[in-house]
Amino acid sequence: MIRFDNSYARLPGRMFARGTPDTVPAPELIALNRPLAERLGLDVDWLAGPEGLAMLSGNAMPPGAAPLAQAYAGHQFGGFVPQLGDGRAMLLGEVVAPDGARFDVQLKGSGRTPFSRMGDGKAWLGPVLREYLVSEFMAAMDVPTTRGLAAVATGETIYRETPLPGAILTRIAASHIRVGTYQFFAVRGDTEALRALTDHVIARHYPDADGPLGLLNAVIAAQARTITHWMALGFIHGVMNTDNMAISGETIDYGPCAFMDAFHPETVFSSIDRNGRYAWINQPQIAVWNLAQFATCLIPLMGDQDAAIEAATRAVHSFPAVYEAEWLARFAAKLGIATPVEADRASAERLLVIMAEAGADFTRTFAGLADGTARSEFADPSRFDAFAADWRARVPAPDLALMARANPRRIPRNHRIEAAIAAAREGNLAPFHDLYAAVTRPREDRPEWDDFAAAPAPAERVRATYCGT
Ligand code: AMP
Ligand code: MG
Ligand code: MG
Repeated sequence: MIRFDNSYARLPGRMFARGTPDTVPAPELIALNRPLAERLGLDVDWLAGPEGLAMLSGNAMPPGAAPLAQAYAGHQFGGFVPQLGDGRAMLLGEVVAPDGARFDVQLKGSGRTPFSRMGDGKAWLGPVLREYLVSEFMAAMDVPTTRGLAAVATGETIYRETPLPGAILTRIAASHIRVGTYQFFAVRGDTEALRALTDHVIARHYPDADGPLGLLNAVIAAQARTITHWMALGFIHGVMNTDNMAISGETIDYGPCAFMDAFHPETVFSSIDRNGRYAWINQPQIAVWNLAQFATCLIPLMGDQDAAIEAATRAVHSFPAVYEAEWLARFAAKLGIATPVEADRASAERLLVIMAEAGADFTRTFAGLADGTARSEFADPSRFDAFAADWRARVPAPDLALMARANPRRIPRNHRIEAAIAAAREGNLAPFHDLYAAVTRPREDRPEWDDFAAAPAPAERVRATYCGT
């Protein structure tokens, strides 16, 4: 059995739409995340059994579930859309883990909701496996993230440009409340809902925050931390719309996201990001832009308007300081420097510059610093040698344990994800399971996983990723 406690469903009814997931013809469990289920305090045997599968596929809701689609709005690529909402996802309820932490259990791909607009509310196998792999890698690297609890094939055929196998991801999140959730009520002038949402969010995520301004500061700090993790892994979220920025600070919505192979700061993968708005290097600026939208939503709750605007502006302007400090700590760790000084920032930046010039592989360069193999990522190693000499002068004895924690040997590389999806479409799940094993123990050095650490050959290189709903 599973015990839900549904605090979101107790909020004002206009914040969501109740419904039921669609039933599906032939559910089959593809992946079940047992360690996560245990961390949540779930009954793993129940979850792996017929009743668990019925829930994970949407076919039967266990007692206590209160399925609902959450309302939200959002700026998509800078343009405001007053109504988005869960169009292909349903929150089943919340579970409270043994340590008291509360988590959303959400089905993604479970059918139409009142927010579906023209969409079918479904997901196909590709994006489900992609999100499962990438989010579990992120969790393994200690990046704040939503998680994948299960992936289920539905036995349904869904139609994109071609017929594709349907699937459902069970997503776990500290909550699915977004900047866009705030915007939904702010644009409607619904201060009462904003207040209820804020009380809920503070109690749930930031119990030490003092009112809306305290909340704003806490979210700014959480996002600054999360985004430095992305930068330090060469991760490009791809769709940093305000509806894809979680108030909890978790990374959410793994759509056209990707990790860079060859490093270049302007890298973009998303096929819909024609202007490079969400390029790797732009991510911190976009975060500030999104957080400014969040701040704007909170102003009606902050008393005297002029004072509120001033305080909110000051808060948003504090992002760079938090971000820069986190960035330095994270990149210094990658260089084996436990207690960085400001001058170490220039060293890290210098390495990034020569990596970009050389098109060096992001992951392999950092992973290869400890044993000297980074040098082979540079066609002309002289620039690397000059960097390495200065780096060694600064840190004659780099903290190898720190480096090993900060620099994964393996990431979920785009070409491997695509290959795993292609095989899964043909009914062969082995490449998916192998890749999952290799990227969820990303720091371990095992010869059988060397292949997963390799950069793509030119012909294997993936240049574009798709939202691929
Ligand atoms: P995303 O690009 O994943 O952030 O999604 C943006 C919006 O489109 C959200 O409101 C989604 O719920 C909605 N959406 C995306 N795909 C579908 C789909 N297949 N059916 C219905 N709604 C969808
Ligand atoms: Mg989204
Ligand atoms: Mg998405």
